[in-house]
Amino acid sequence: MSLMAEDPTHGSPNLAAPPLMAAHALSKTFIVGKTIAPGSGRVLHAVDEVSLDIAQGETLGLVGESGSGKSTLGRCLTRLYDVTAGSLTFEGQEIGKADQRALKPFRRKVQMIFQDPSASLNPRRRVRDMLAEVLTVHKIRQGTGVEARLGELMDLVGLRRAYLDRYPHEFSGGQRQRIGIARALAVEPKLIVADEPVSALDVSVQAQIVNLFSDLRDKLDLTYVFIAHDLAVVRQVSTRVAVMYLGSIVEIGETDALYQHPSHPYTEALLSAIPQPHNRGKRSRILLSGEIPSPLDPPVGCKFNTRCAYATDLCRTVRPKLAQVSPERLVACHYPLFQE
Ligand code: ADP
Ligand code: MG
Repeated sequence: MSLMAEDPTHGSPNLAAPPLMAAHALSKTFIVGKTIAPGSGRVLHAVDEVSLDIAQGETLGLVGESGSGKSTLGRCLTRLYDVTAGSLTFEGQEIGKADQRALKPFRRKVQMIFQDPSASLNPRRRVRDMLAEVLTVHKIRQGTGVEARLGELMDLVGLRRAYLDRYPHEFSGGQRQRIGIARALAVEPKLIVADEPVSALDVSVQAQIVNLFSDLRDKLDLTYVFIAHDLAVVRQVSTRVAVMYLGSIVEIGETDALYQHPSHPYTEALLSAIPQPHNRGKRSRILLSGEIPSPLDPPVGCKFNTRCAYATDLCRTVRPKLAQVSPERLVACHYPLFQE
């Protein structure tokens, strides 16, 4: 028996330890169509009572069709958005209701990376100046320490140090995302929420950036929430996966088990839509019929019932809660497809 086999936690997140971050019944609503007329505007539940633990060291993939609330949840977890209701803790401390001042230490520990890094890169500033500013504003390094750290950051993201003197437009899409990652790493965060970080890149470049994320996690002991609509990418990088539909998590579980035996009919349908080059006809494609309903007017009962092949009267009247169906799997369905 090897030494590694005797350490059951080696290389995998410790799910028994207190979570790094925990959301409980977290909600975010937007008021849309509001005019000056009193009582105008409708409530849109973009994130609807989401409960979630994020373990130190894990990569939690977040998937779901466009409009399911992934980005809004990501922005709530990083407190770029105020949350409407519910609780959010980081390292045991409530930060859901914290104001900007109280959030200051949290801002260093939790960073967000976006699909288009250009939006957060000033086109008129060299990479060196942009990164140096982050280091000094957050008092991470001072004096000669700054230059040394700039070099380290470039090494970490696989860019030549000479590129510090370039402007954002002088980089390719993949290189720009590397700069975006360097910027996030500059504050030495513990948790990174990456919102579709490779979706805008060519497929060959996607793989390199996904590998970079994995390498950095191992090297720097990072924890990720990795948002993507591409299920193949999510499978590659995630230790666990959460599936969102109309603002709710409908299923969450360990990546391989979830991909092999989806339990929620929505997960099953999403997975069956992945092109399978070596498919021997085992998994037939289950079409998601109809459009995703409007979050302004979600279906009564299970939100998925209008598109579900298995829906019954129970599903059309009672909303199922997220419940455990096996040791590492939670599903919000009256008729889970997989349970142990
Ligand atoms: P995803 O990232 O999964 O595509 P989003 O979080 O962007 O989903 O959006 C979830 C829902 O919230 C959508 O119906 C979207 O139209 C709505 N939404 C997102 N941001 C806003 C906003 N700032 N104002 C109003 N509605 C919003
Ligand atoms: Mg999004």
